[in-house]
Amino acid sequence: MAVDSVISSPLGPPSSEKDAYALQFIKEMTSNADAVQERVLSEILSQNAETEYLQRFGLNGATHRETFKSKIPVVTYEDLQPEIQRIANGDRSPILSSHPISEFLTSSGTSAGERKLMPTIAEEMDRRQKLYSLLMPVMNLYVPGLDKGKGLYFLFVKNSTKTPGGLLARPVLTSYYNSKQFKTRPYDPYNVYTSPNEAILCVDSFQSMYTQMLCGLIMRQEVLRVGAVFASGLLRAIRFLQLNWRELAHDISTGTLSPKITDASIRECMSKVLKPDPELADFIIQECSDENWERIIPRIWPKTKYLDVIVTGAMAQYIPTLDFYSGGLPKPCTMYASSECYFGLNLKPMCKPSEVSYTIMPNMGYFEFMPHDPWALPPSRDSPPRLVDLADVEVGKEYELVVSTYSGLCRYRVGDILQVTGFYNSAPQFRFVRRKNVLLSIESDKTDEAELQKAIENASVLLREFNTSVVEYTSFADTRTIPGHYVIYWELLVRESANPPTDDVLNRCCLAMEESLNSVYRQSRVADNSIGPLEIRVVKNGTFEELMDYAISRGASINQYKVPRCVNSTPITELLDARVASVHFSPSAPHWTPERRR
Ligand code: AMP
Repeated sequence: MAVDSVISSPLGPPSSEKDAYALQFIKEMTSNADAVQERVLSEILSQNAETEYLQRFGLNGATHRETFKSKIPVVTYEDLQPEIQRIANGDRSPILSSHPISEFLTSSGTSAGERKLMPTIAEEMDRRQKLYSLLMPVMNLYVPGLDKGKGLYFLFVKNSTKTPGGLLARPVLTSYYNSKQFKTRPYDPYNVYTSPNEAILCVDSFQSMYTQMLCGLIMRQEVLRVGAVFASGLLRAIRFLQLNWRELAHDISTGTLSPKITDASIRECMSKVLKPDPELADFIIQECSDENWERIIPRIWPKTKYLDVIVTGAMAQYIPTLDFYSGGLPKPCTMYASSECYFGLNLKPMCKPSEVSYTIMPNMGYFEFMPHDPWALPPSRDSPPRLVDLADVEVGKEYELVVSTYSGLCRYRVGDILQVTGFYNSAPQFRFVRRKNVLLSIESDKTDEAELQKAIENASVLLREFNTSVVEYTSFADTRTIPGHYVIYWELLVRESANPPTDDVLNRCCLAMEESLNSVYRQSRVADNSIGPLEIRVVKNGTFEELMDYAISRGASINQYKVPRCVNSTPITELLDARVASVHFSPSAPHWTPERRR
């Protein structure tokens, strides 16, 4: 096959036949975006023609776009909850999909405090695999020589649960790493990881991280890229190194494995990797005992060319810390995906984080776009929103993504707001603007305004015996600490100055708030330790009025002023912090079990 350059890059042609094939596929998909979308919708609708869902809306086997749009409603997870619950309870009839539901993917988005359950079918795994297979061919256009070394990737699985009807429920990456597509992937010089499968597939996060870090240290001279899925995951790994380098260095020095690693398959595979290497151990001790960890990544892994992590959306808050530890290495955000559907990839991975645009691949699902105007009235039943097709979006406009999938989600609102930045061939490219309704997020947790409000209400119950109430509050995701944590600013009305709330009760208020937050938050606190204890900062009376004065001085209208329920600008947090009267932390972790509460 002629190897021609299909994506403009400084380096020109693809580096292998395989890459050329992948790039050709991208070219074909993006050059015919609208036709591919028409075909995908027709395939989805004919595959699922007999499902209860499509029949309920009288589609009668029609596969045309306009019929589909006129008959099928745009829905949210809550609208589909009854169908999803029936599938979870064991109903095997074709409710949403004519293909058997193979498992549920547990989203980090929650509904009524629990992870959303996304039904999926076996063939979707191949579609996800296809998108993965496009990433390195694009990267190879920009970074040469990635076949000459390895990737140090911190990848993890979580425990799976079963629904009452016996279907597995687990995160999409846990499903992928356990698939044959991943476990028995053929050797590919561009995709060699330092982490053995045994470590990636160990559900004990300490043992998994320890082993992955150990392998990364042993193979430090071979590592060409360091990564995790999201930026928060990579920072967690750095924190882990800060806490565990002595023990890791000991293992390297002696060629033995810490007794904390009890997983038999890890012990077996590590026995082939570990050899006493006192010189390397000394190097690690020397680097890690230095108080200054600036540029620690290139210091330990000197051949690192980039950090393979996502730093768009909620992850942008971690860019300064990553830059500190990496000396500003590039951070290509390679793909945009979700439990519902994998969407697309970044065709210019070496661009600045603020310039990242994702090209949605039209073969992955059928995509529609709901114009997003924050000032518009919400759509009513009489005037439903007019959705735009993938090929018809307009540059500069913001849209909410709506997806129909082969697994049977139809016109499903994903909840992501995207802005069109341009086109690649006939496929639009999008900047990820934000997730709708998310106020606070440290890693995969997403807390919205209603959840925060409820948590404040539940915690304030404890203040009643002190005749005290919360008059104003706001919040802040503090990611300057690792792990990051939620900070809640409270202004209190203490009615009896002789009986103010005690330290102990304010600490318990922190815990009461955590108990009210959704299960993804609590899991991150309890099982993953990726979020630190929640903090309440009580501010002096009158602080929120000062906050309003500040906003008005900056042009806000008194009539329309609302207390921001989340603050992230430095002058505002500085103003609040300067008025802090007392600080309180959760004394223990909230409850969390893998079982769903309902
Ligand atoms: P989940 O359902 O837990 O798989 O999370 C999927 C969500 O994560 C998406 O809908 C986005 O809100 C967010 N997400 C995924 N990929 C990216 C990305 N590249 N940049 C920003 N946010 C992302």
